[in-house]
Amino acid sequence: MSMSASSESPALSAPVVCFDGKSARSQAATLSVEGTDLVCRDEAGVELTRFSRTSVGVVDDGIEGPSRILTSTQQPDVRIKFASPDLAAPFLAWSAKPAGRTRLAAKPRILALAAVGAVVAGFVATKAIPLLATPITAMIPMSYEVSVGQELVPYHVPEKRRCTEAEGLAVIASVARQLLASESVNPPFTVYAIDNDEPNAFVFAGNHLVVQTGLIEHAPGPEAVVGVIAHELGHQLHRHAMRRMIISGGTKFLFGAIFGGLTPESVATMGATQYRLRFSRDAEREADATAVRLLNRAGFGTDGLTAMFRRFAELRGEPHVFATYFSSHPLEEERIEALERVRAPAARPAMTDREWAALKALCRTRGDASRS
Ligand SMILES: [Zn+2]
Repeated sequence: MSMSASSESPALSAPVVCFDGKSARSQAATLSVEGTDLVCRDEAGVELTRFSRTSVGVVDDGIEGPSRILTSTQQPDVRIKFASPDLAAPFLAWSAKPAGRTRLAAKPRILALAAVGAVVAGFVATKAIPLLATPITAMIPMSYEVSVGQELVPYHVPEKRRCTEAEGLAVIASVARQLLASESVNPPFTVYAIDNDEPNAFVFAGNHLVVQTGLIEHAPGPEAVVGVIAHELGHQLHRHAMRRMIISGGTKFLFGAIFGGLTPESVATMGATQYRLRFSRDAEREADATAVRLLNRAGFGTDGLTAMFRRFAELRGEPHVFATYFSSHPLEEERIEALERVRAPAARPAMTDREWAALKALCRTRGDASRS
């Protein structure tokens, strides 16, 4: 994200969770700059809260980096929560800019110091840590990542959503094993399926792979599911989840690492809220390139992954399919083009009819009908 530094009133706006401090209810909203005020409005455009530029403050909620949650010094109960520090940074920069027609209300020196602090913290969180994240990740032993991953299992694979059919789970494990046959992976991947209508799959720290039933449901065929699994394995072979955790943990992670007190539990706490944050475009390209390698070595070819991207592009127009997967990945069209350039046909089917049926039966044999 970049903004013009010279613009007098930049058109700043971002999705947030807004807590007005009065109704004891937080809601999804849009935060925008209106004149010299920050204003939270709900979907219908109704104003939820408003406060002036000079009263913008930052909250450290003890988990995420300090620059993710804003408040107002005039209404200290207000909380404006962003999905990531880089979304909050432009608003902090805007509030810290020398006021044009606005005069600093009180204690200008303290406000100026706070502004400098916010900008420095913003710089560390948005620039320095992402640059350092790759070398830091490389220094973290896999055994440590595994213990972080262990803490994350209950967050990412909640007991009540877990699919338990052994045959279907064995198919996912077998696909992962075939894709990783010529890689040295330690420890081997633990695979899960969870009951979730959203077409998605993800990996998390410590070699864990999660397939959601919505992915199987919306896939045009078995080879499309295999393609997405290859992409997710690609993320983990590059340790993108650990890297993202370091970026999102930001200064807290760095200071914890330097001054001690960074336990697998505390790292997992940082990671638990962040697995839905997007990977960078570079990370996505890296995962796609690795997926192509894995798919070709296993003889599955690239057409399945391409078919899934086409399906994702179609689904984007269907608002009932809640789809963070789309927003967290570069545009499908761009990726389809990149895949077509390295296209390799399948040398063998991705799975038998029986295996595909077992995959589709995942989470179907559960007792209650709690699916939405
Ligand atoms: Zn991805």
